[in-house]
Amino acid sequence: MAILMDGKAVATKIQAKIADRVKEHKKAFGRVPGIAVILVGEDPASATYVSSKEKLAVEAGFYSKVYRLEANTTESHLLELIDELNGDTKIHGILVQLPLPKHIDTMNVIMAIDPKKDVDGFHPVNIGLLNIGVKGFIPCTPYGVIKLLEEYEIDLVGKHAVVIGRSNIVGKPMATLLLRKNATVTTCHSNTKDLQAICKQADIVIAAIGKPKMITADFIKPGAVVIDVGMNRVDGKLCGDVDFDSVEKVASHITPVPKGVGPMTITMLMYNTLQASLNRLY
Ligand code: NDP
Repeated sequence: MAILMDGKAVATKIQAKIADRVKEHKKAFGRVPGIAVILVGEDPASATYVSSKEKLAVEAGFYSKVYRLEANTTESHLLELIDELNGDTKIHGILVQLPLPKHIDTMNVIMAIDPKKDVDGFHPVNIGLLNIGVKGFIPCTPYGVIKLLEEYEIDLVGKHAVVIGRSNIVGKPMATLLLRKNATVTTCHSNTKDLQAICKQADIVIAAIGKPKMITADFIKPGAVVIDVGMNRVDGKLCGDVDFDSVEKVASHITPVPKGVGPMTITMLMYNTLQASLNRLY
């Protein structure tokens, strides 16, 4: 049976460290990190994510502001709000919950955020910094995966990592981070031929597909590490892209869904916001 990589426990540990640092900085400098979260529309999943972010920010001792805007909010109104937050000295991190309604150009919105406040790491400046290996903000989900791999002392050097998915927010930055850790990385996507054979060669498989339980034990080399980024709702229940029940029998390590990558993602958002606030101090 595989070792369960308990994202919830690791996230709780990191959150406690963040809260301690917030307290220290409040004492020393009289200020706390500030985060602004913007939600446009009423997508239930997005609303849940925003509420969790708000709760965690408050628990960590952050100053937090949530803007819940109508679904018909115009792009120019949203851009004005971002401009205002860019200039707000109490706010160190700005997050716009995606996806946005179709009438709003997501890239225009991402590019309007000051890269120094782009705690999601989606701005082209931060993506560029990540790619050339210079410090910037790293997208929270792949960053959380790396922290989890570190916590379980998974050696990545020279290992074959297969990332399934090439989105800008998960798959691509995930592959870049693994490469930075000296893994040999293969990125797969919907046009990849014989995905199963490629996965079967992997020492580490990262599934970020959005297809419930697609990765079964037949895709996994015995002893491989399997990270399930997927978050799918099936009959109202959350499940990953990995068929946990079959894969846990062959993998050496596996993340569950829920309580795997999800809690790490939101924790890294707080981590990035703390970092953004420290960047303004020194
Ligand atoms: P996207 O839909 O943007 O990307 C999915 C990727 O999977 C694409 O690159 C797509 O290929 C690829 N893909 C789709 N079908 C197949 C297939 N049959 N074989 C191989 N590759 C395939 O999703 P995201 O990256 O945003 O998210 C992926 C999953 O992770 C979702 O379930 C999402 O809910 C979850 N997620 C979880 C987070 C967390 O905190 N745990 C955070 C963010 C996302 P192509 O590019 O060719 O279309």
